[in-house]
Amino acid sequence: MAAPWRDVVRDAAAVRDAAAVAVDAALLAGVLMRTGEQPLSSDVVNYAPFTLLPSAVPRALFEQAYAVQQDFNLLVDAISQNKEFLEQTLASTIKVDDFTARLFRIYMQVLEEGLAQTVFLGINRSDYMFDCGLDGTAALKQIEINTIAASFGGLTSRTADVHGLVLKVLGKTKEASRLLPNNPSKGLALGIAKAWELYGSQSAVVMFLVEEIQRNIFDQRCVENELWNRSIRVIRRRFRDVFEKGSLDGSRRLYIDGQEVAVVYYREGYVPQTYDQQNWEARLLLERSRAVKCPDIATQLAGTKKVQQELSRPGTLEKLLPGRPEAVARVRATFAGLYSLDEGEEGDRIAATAIADPERFVLKPQREGGGNNLYGEELRQVLEKIKDSPERTSYILMDKIKPQPALNYLLRAHSPLQVSECISELGIFGVYVRQGQEMVLNEAAGHLLRTKAIQHADGGVAAGVAVLDTPYLV
Ligand code: ADP
Ligand code: MG
Repeated sequence: MAAPWRDVVRDAAAVRDAAAVAVDAALLAGVLMRTGEQPLSSDVVNYAPFTLLPSAVPRALFEQAYAVQQDFNLLVDAISQNKEFLEQTLASTIKVDDFTARLFRIYMQVLEEGLAQTVFLGINRSDYMFDCGLDGTAALKQIEINTIAASFGGLTSRTADVHGLVLKVLGKTKEASRLLPNNPSKGLALGIAKAWELYGSQSAVVMFLVEEIQRNIFDQRCVENELWNRSIRVIRRRFRDVFEKGSLDGSRRLYIDGQEVAVVYYREGYVPQTYDQQNWEARLLLERSRAVKCPDIATQLAGTKKVQQELSRPGTLEKLLPGRPEAVARVRATFAGLYSLDEGEEGDRIAATAIADPERFVLKPQREGGGNNLYGEELRQVLEKIKDSPERTSYILMDKIKPQPALNYLLRAHSPLQVSECISELGIFGVYVRQGQEMVLNEAAGHLLRTKAIQHADGGVAAGVAVLDTPYLV
């Protein structure tokens, strides 16, 4: 891949000056996070980590990622409505994975009662890396699709200006003018606003379901403020608040502190640690309600790694997107090799292959949030241990994607300025709203580029590994 900043990246004095400008520009632009020490107060904040330089992204792959996003929106929505598919696909997983099993139980429970919800809002982010083939050409390969709490749509809308300024400081004015504007938070807010409107109660609020630890609050505020600007009221509550003060009326309208809730936007709820018995009860209450959940529990299940793996089986996409061969082809073109570890011959064979050649694969459990996957020697050891036990079915195997590294500087508060070999992950935000059976909105809402040093196999921005970036199309 092209290295557009080759001339400046090793110029220590220029880099030092540009980094100082960059940090202040990030603070001015609001690329902010609360600190680890004071995650519940905005008295002390810092800049969210970001790259000094925008990273090169092949234009064709960038456009390909945008072009397939509406297809992914349709696909996720179709899966969320397909009980048979979810049941079959997750059958082996829920026998061994307690978290997925509990989500699934709530899913079945709300289906049995009958859904009160009639408006559906999906906000997802499909993540990709650029796999470098033996001949040096790069291909767009999906890492995963996040169907719950996909973050950084807010902060990332502010990084392009920062990178533009840095390029100007480095004497690259022409290149600065080529950076694309990007504002996912506007698109996400548009989807939330549409769902709120279709819910049809002027006095109802949008509830952001947030974590106990709220370091990334500024990212969420970007979306919140867009809603306030449309005169839609926003409240922030935790699962604990819902347990203590949430209730349903006779037609399963959701109330909290006397306010009717039209939309529940989850920025929480995707890791097992969130849930004690009370929080599971709160989740059930929300799912049973008429409020628009973003996502509903079926859509959360549609985002599991196990579902991702099943989608890559021949014939599956055709069944889920009938009559849409072009969409199927666009989606399939982004798939890397994915393999089931279900009990049986197919699973035995791929487990043996991965044990023999672990560098080829990534071993993934049904978890979100970064830092859960296994690579290399660790992958080999774990697989060796569980290869003959049902436990292996809680994982999937995936081909490891190998992007071409590029040099950059990762700017982090309290960290030394040093050059790193880096790889990037591109995310495209998707938003859709469905009312009954009618899709009323289906869009790509913007992008996110995250970059990390190559010595880290895993992990996102929140996990402290990747940093925010801006694509520079080449
Ligand atoms: P999570 O739900 O924890 O975000 P991901 O599937 O996105 O799980 O994996 C976390 C990180 O691990 C990714 O951001 C990426 O850096 C790395 N990763 C995941 N899958 C692959 C893969 N197939 N090849 C190379 N790196 C991968
Ligand atoms: Mg991820």
